Amino acid sequence: MKSYISEFESKDKPKDYYQKLLEELKGKNRELHVFNNLNEDLRDGFPFSVKDNICVRGVESTASSKILKTYKPPFNATVVERLQRQGFAFLGKTNMDEFGFGSFGINCETPARNPFNVDYVAGGSSSGAAVATSILKYHVAVAESTGGSISAPAAFCGVVGFTPTYGVVSRNGLIDYANSLDKIGFMARSAADIRKVLNMSVGRDEKDTTSLDARLRDEPKIQFSVINQLMNGLDDKVRSAFDKLLEKLKSMDYKINYVDLKDIEAAIPAYYIISTAEASTNLARYTGFKYGFKVGDFSKRYNDFFTEARMQFGSEAKRRIILGTFVRGASVKNRYYVKALKVRAMLGEKMRRILRESLIISPTMSITTPKISEVEKLSPVQTYALDMLTIPPNLCGFPHVSFPYEYIDDMPIGAQIVGDHFNDYAPISFVENWEGKFKYRFKYNIGAI
Ligand code: GLN
Repeated sequence: MKSYISEFESKDKPKDYYQKLLEELKGKNRELHVFNNLNEDLRDGFPFSVKDNICVRGVESTASSKILKTYKPPFNATVVERLQRQGFAFLGKTNMDEFGFGSFGINCETPARNPFNVDYVAGGSSSGAAVATSILKYHVAVAESTGGSISAPAAFCGVVGFTPTYGVVSRNGLIDYANSLDKIGFMARSAADIRKVLNMSVGRDEKDTTSLDARLRDEPKIQFSVINQLMNGLDDKVRSAFDKLLEKLKSMDYKINYVDLKDIEAAIPAYYIISTAEASTNLARYTGFKYGFKVGDFSKRYNDFFTEARMQFGSEAKRRIILGTFVRGASVKNRYYVKALKVRAMLGEKMRRILRESLIISPTMSITTPKISEVEKLSPVQTYALDMLTIPPNLCGFPHVSFPYEYIDDMPIGAQIVGDHFNDYAPISFVENWEGKFKYRFKYNIGAI
């Protein structure tokens, strides 16, 4: 099992290692817009990056939003604190869709670009985290997923992306998108490294009342379930690559089982109702008084003052405020928000039944990596629909991993494995097993010693 963390620790580093790494990275950053800021004071330790919606003490943490420009939190997120305590070195804050709103990394001022081809998206919303993992040889990324923000960019950039069971990694220090859905997770170049950083990060945290002190399991499964409804609507090339993957799994003695789960089609509408409802309340705190952008001129009239502050939001954030405020309105609440909560509970129950016996497998994304110019043309509804494979496990809080397994037209693609609640190590173990058998090639190796 390849661990870049162990390899790095056992190597002698030249004195100017970190300086050189930073220089090379700065060059790449101009081309790929990976980092919102880099730590000029990089010190000894295994480098880790932090998605820009996770707080690092004294470092601008903006969630790629203009409204949070200049916000420097006076504290570290718990996950940052825990990794630093293990001797990891903070490298910088990674680019993302504003507040996590997006699947392609284009909903921000300067979108990150795919390292395999700069005309293509990096994926989102943890775009920079995936690009950093793809180009740096020794590095792990701390990222966050609400509805697929770790899986999607990991797949498009050819790295391993892991999202834990909801609540097992403290969210203290996360700039919230949708509290009942947000999970802090990781990206790395190998599953063994994901296992290591997960180990360091889990455990109850007094500062996050929803964090759990759960014992995570590593209960292997020899059976994979493919949900028929998720296979409709796959791009032809993705479909045929995925069929070949299933054949390889059979040759590794895994069993493939096809199951129906008609209700899974309700996952996207339920997710976008719950997530926008929560987002609209979370964004209400950005008024121009307390956080980041300050209007300053108190002689302004009420409406003018708040309009000036809230104009700083990008168009996707505004859309979600409007949508989320609508769906939780008193007159329609039962028709949308309450119903969406019921869908979530029902779907979680049905998926859990499948996950008792097996792991669920699917491609990570239904399409191959799109060009930036292509996704810019999509309507919001078309864009949301492309989350069909990543949303179900996120909506119901199941741990899942995306791993790269193939290239289509020289761009990497990924498959996603979902496990039962608290069986977080099962999907990771599977990927370790896979990596032992099938070699994967990275395009860049910045920071190689
Ligand atoms: N694409 C989804 C959304 O826009 C998921 C993003 C995320 O996980 N932060 O809500």
